[in-house]
Amino acid sequence: MSGETVVVVGGGIAGLATAWQLARLGARVCLVEMEPAAATHASGRNAAIFRSVDMHPDTAGLATRSRALLNDLGVPGALRARGVLLLGPEDRVDALATRAREHTVRHERLDPNGCARRAPLVAGGGGTGGLWVPGDGVLDVHAVVQALLGRLRAAGAEVLLGCPVALSVTPGGAQVRLADGTVRQGGAVVLAAGAWSSALAGRAGLGLPLRAMRRHLAHLGGVENVDAEHPVVWGTGPDEVYFRPESGGLLASPCDEAEGPPGEPPIDETVAALLAERLGRLAPAVAGAQLRRLWTCQRTFAPDREFVLGPDPRAPSVVWATGLGGRGMTCGLALGELAARAALGLAPAPAAMLPGRLLPPAPGADGVAAGG
Ligand SMILES: Cc1cc2nc3c(=O)[nH]c(=O)nc-3n(C[C@H](O)[C@H](O)[C@H](O)COP(=O)(O)OP(=O)(O)OC[C@H]3O[C@@H](n4cnc5c(N)ncnc54)[C@H](O)[C@@H]3O)c2cc1C
Repeated sequence: MSGETVVVVGGGIAGLATAWQLARLGARVCLVEMEPAAATHASGRNAAIFRSVDMHPDTAGLATRSRALLNDLGVPGALRARGVLLLGPEDRVDALATRAREHTVRHERLDPNGCARRAPLVAGGGGTGGLWVPGDGVLDVHAVVQALLGRLRAAGAEVLLGCPVALSVTPGGAQVRLADGTVRQGGAVVLAAGAWSSALAGRAGLGLPLRAMRRHLAHLGGVENVDAEHPVVWGTGPDEVYFRPESGGLLASPCDEAEGPPGEPPIDETVAALLAERLGRLAPAVAGAQLRRLWTCQRTFAPDREFVLGPDPRAPSVVWATGLGGRGMTCGLALGELAARAALGLAPAPAAMLPGRLLPPAPGADGVAAGG
């Protein structure tokens, strides 16, 4: 391992988790975040649901590793395992159960009565049943972020907040220009800038086709007897929607998606009607809920919705750790470990996540002569 400083751009879960693992591996680390506080964007404005069973083949494995790293972090109550109930058409629930079995995630198939017993707010919602995942639940995101910052500082890492940076690539490797004009060059630069990653890299000629997709969250009140320990409920069918208890009411999302430029997306008030409609169908007891607050943030996706992690083949000292989509709070700690190992050349990133897959094939790479 070289003694050069690794610069991590972005103080969301991807950057914090990568920087923590770099420090654990003995590397010198500098984490730079443009906002005055860490986790200001997606990592601080999400639903905080730890959901280890979905249709991605790698989620359950990464969630299991993240859970272990959460224990290493030593934050009491960081994951409140109040259970996640996944509802949906029978074939979808079957497929999720298969996924859970493959990864030995504890689960149980429930009929509609069993669902209502576990999650009383879905009583009367119809449907054919669901999948109960008792070990999943809700993260204390603030505590996790503070613990990561604490670990970084204790390890002597530099943490620069309020420090937007620019990236460039020179024959000597990647360079990062800090807000005060100073330049860092030497070791790897990890791009963990969420929705901004592609624009940041693009100015250094390394853009990738990532998309920033807005999603709304709502805080709802006016629902009788919301038990703070009620499980998370996720309708996984075509009318996707989820909710969980929060501050005496419910936190819910209609799982909307709209592409936009990286930044603070505007709120679309019409989403409230979509949420009410979807919630009403899934959980009639919630149909009369009143909207207390609506907010948005962006999730960042590669076209294939797989993570983007590993060295850029055009400039290998630039290491991507982005495209966390809607799974970043669940998988982020494990992804940080993978990114740190890739940045230090200790282990290659998983092939399915490599950024090179998003580049057009090099001329002649398919065996056809490039010309002349
Ligand atoms: C509405 C919503 C609900 C969600 N719910 C869940 C959920 O329940 N469970 C789950 O697992 N996931 C959820 N997610 C997904 C999760 O929040 C994201 O996958 C994760 O936060 C992405 O983390 P990140 O570090 O890649 O990005 P971010 O948290 O956005 O961090 C990127 C950071 O880079 C900084 N930055 C950008 N450009 C620069 C620059 N030039 N210089 C310095 N710093 C820069 C930004 O300020 C930002 O802080 C949700 C997301 C949204 C939007």
